[in-house]
Amino acid sequence: MSFPLWFLNGGANGPMAPYLILLLLMVSFTAGRKQQSTIVIVYLVSLIVLISAELMYPSLVWEPIGGTKKVVIMAGLFFASIGAAVLVTSFRINFLRDRKKLLRAQSDLMSTNLQLEYAKKESDKASKAKSAFLASVSHEIRTPLNSIIGAIDLLKLHDLKPDQKMLFQLMNESSETLLQLLTDVLDLSKIEADKIKIRAKHMHISDFVKNMANFTEALIIKEKKEIEFKYSIGDLPSSILTDEVRLTQILTNLLSNAIKYTQEGKVELVVATNKDNPDELFFCVSDTGMGIEPENLEFIKRPFNQVSDQSKERENEGESGVGLGLTITRSLLRLMKGRLIISSDFGVGSRFTAYLPLTPSEEKQVTPPILNVTGIPKFEGISALIVEDNKFNQIILQRMLESLGVDCDIANNGLECLSIWQERNYDLILMDLNMPGLDGIETTKRILKDAVHEPIPKIIAVTANVLDQDEQRCLDAGMHSFLPKPITMAELSSRIVAATADS
Ligand code: ADP
Repeated sequence: MSFPLWFLNGGANGPMAPYLILLLLMVSFTAGRKQQSTIVIVYLVSLIVLISAELMYPSLVWEPIGGTKKVVIMAGLFFASIGAAVLVTSFRINFLRDRKKLLRAQSDLMSTNLQLEYAKKESDKASKAKSAFLASVSHEIRTPLNSIIGAIDLLKLHDLKPDQKMLFQLMNESSETLLQLLTDVLDLSKIEADKIKIRAKHMHISDFVKNMANFTEALIIKEKKEIEFKYSIGDLPSSILTDEVRLTQILTNLLSNAIKYTQEGKVELVVATNKDNPDELFFCVSDTGMGIEPENLEFIKRPFNQVSDQSKERENEGESGVGLGLTITRSLLRLMKGRLIISSDFGVGSRFTAYLPLTPSEEKQVTPPILNVTGIPKFEGISALIVEDNKFNQIILQRMLESLGVDCDIANNGLECLSIWQERNYDLILMDLNMPGLDGIETTKRILKDAVHEPIPKIIAVTANVLDQDEQRCLDAGMHSFLPKPITMAELSSRIVAATADS
């Protein structure tokens, strides 16, 4: 259409050229992004064709003289209305198309959100199921393990023949490894399920380090190794705010590894403020052990990795574990806003440094009663009621209490406990949690509410439910303390000391 109008209106010198450019601008402005380049190309090609035709056949061009002004105006109006119509129509088309796209995107987003929500719910459910499964497996394994470890602990009181001693040692070490494994797996699942809460309390550094030193020296003796152990405490406030339980776990892992991977030489623990950052303190465990090959240093920084996975030599030397220790250590440090730095010279030794934020604490440390559990303490004149539904665990607990000099009776469940207690008061009640009928928590609440006798006995939870929230539930119900299974004579006597000292 532009062809005749172009030539009727004076060609390139006439008014058509600006009209066409105006039209091009309007159409390309309103067209969708994809069509814009096509429109520009079509227009440019048309212009080139028109100008070339004009150059080749100048006679085709009619000069707009006199009355042709009308033609110019008409053409102007014509193109302006076409332009306006194109503008409005393409606006509308674009608007409808964009709206459709938006609606589709909205519905896609909604369905993706629904899918995500569903997937999140499913994964939460799976994670809860996994945690519940691990907690229940841990509970189920802990119950028989309690009998095994308890029986082994009681055997220590007997004089054994040399060959029996060897078998006893084997049982003792295997049960300890099994318990450590169980605790590590449960810890890892708690970390994954975000169930570990860091509870910062006042901690006396030198007491803590001395405890760690006692632990390390005892371990060196147990492992019968020729290792010299040294420790030093740098310039630090005497008390800091930290989670002592988790810190103990971290250092126990690092110190046990240092002893495990060192045959002879030295293991050292240094605690000091970080010179480069006075808001940080570090616990550095160094050893003169086998060290780690440079290519394996990166490898063990990843979860669950053991060098023995790669080099069989260590396994041959009997130095292998399960690869959970460093994973748990690193996760705990992360939760405590700290970090672990590892350096090592292969064949010379290793250095594991745990950095933590340093928060000095003003408050005076309340020193817990120091338990001198050298030998077996005697609690003459103390009476206890064992509330436990598992026959094996009843026997173990009864034997343990008897060897501590405690006079004890047994109730098979919560209801039996209540009726026995109506008849006779006790200094202590050792309460299992999971029992048929009335559980440990409910039984405790009834004892404390009914208060049939004075003084009300101190109730100690003895349970295979070892999660933090289980402990909290027991304390909330009014129990005095919490003794996780499997129990040892030393732990049992420490709870009895604390309960009887409080009365
Ligand atoms: P585990 O000791 O149970 O195998 P860890 O997670 O504690 O698992 O350690 C992972 C690996 O790191 C170990 O298998 C060992 O190869 C290496 N490692 C840890 N501590 C030391 C150390 N003090 N000296 C040499 N190697 C070590």
